[in-house]
Amino acid sequence: MARYTGSVCKLCRREKQKLYLKGQKCLTEKCPLEKRNYPPGQHGSSRRSKISEYGIQLREKQKIKRIYGLLETQFHNSFEKASRQKGITGENLVKLLERRLDNVVYRFGFAPSRKSSRQLVRHRHILVNDVLVDIPSFIVAPGDVIKIKEKSKKLDAIHNSLKRTKDSQYSWLQVDKASLTGTFVQVPERSEIPLNANEQLVVELYSK
Ligand code: SF4
Repeated sequence: MARYTGSVCKLCRREKQKLYLKGQKCLTEKCPLEKRNYPPGQHGSSRRSKISEYGIQLREKQKIKRIYGLLETQFHNSFEKASRQKGITGENLVKLLERRLDNVVYRFGFAPSRKSSRQLVRHRHILVNDVLVDIPSFIVAPGDVIKIKEKSKKLDAIHNSLKRTKDSQYSWLQVDKASLTGTFVQVPERSEIPLNANEQLVVELYSK
């Protein structure tokens, strides 16, 4: 399946919710959702069709998948992994997605969006416990220390992103902006993860 290359803002409009896919723009009035909070397309603002139970579950799955920037197969693989773990599958899924290296680098504030963070990882700027890791789906474990590689510490993109990031946003992460180092202290509880979505609907969808 090919990666989506169209306007990502249309994805937010489709879900009628900010998915924060464009970094800084998402926090400004330039966000298209501020003025057009309805699905894209000629009839987007007038369509009032009743959505089925399947449709609701599908939209929720699409929303979570798009927030974390995954393709269908990658997302489904994460779900399979989550369903093999002990506990509540939906919560396991969200916790797993949250532990992806691209997501953790984004949460540290080293990149303004998950897409840019994925690029940082793929372009070999990131070390995990002093070992270079260029796999965005790498699952970070409690205690892992994530650093920007020495040669990459001058990258403007990283510093610009950090300047816009508030300190101590997430209780399970510790960030040292001066040394461009972050620690993934522990796996967060589902209630701590700022994800406005109902993952149980994804479980119901995939259980059909
Ligand atoms: Fe979504 Fe960000 Fe575009 Fe707003 S600016 S529609 S939040 S991607």
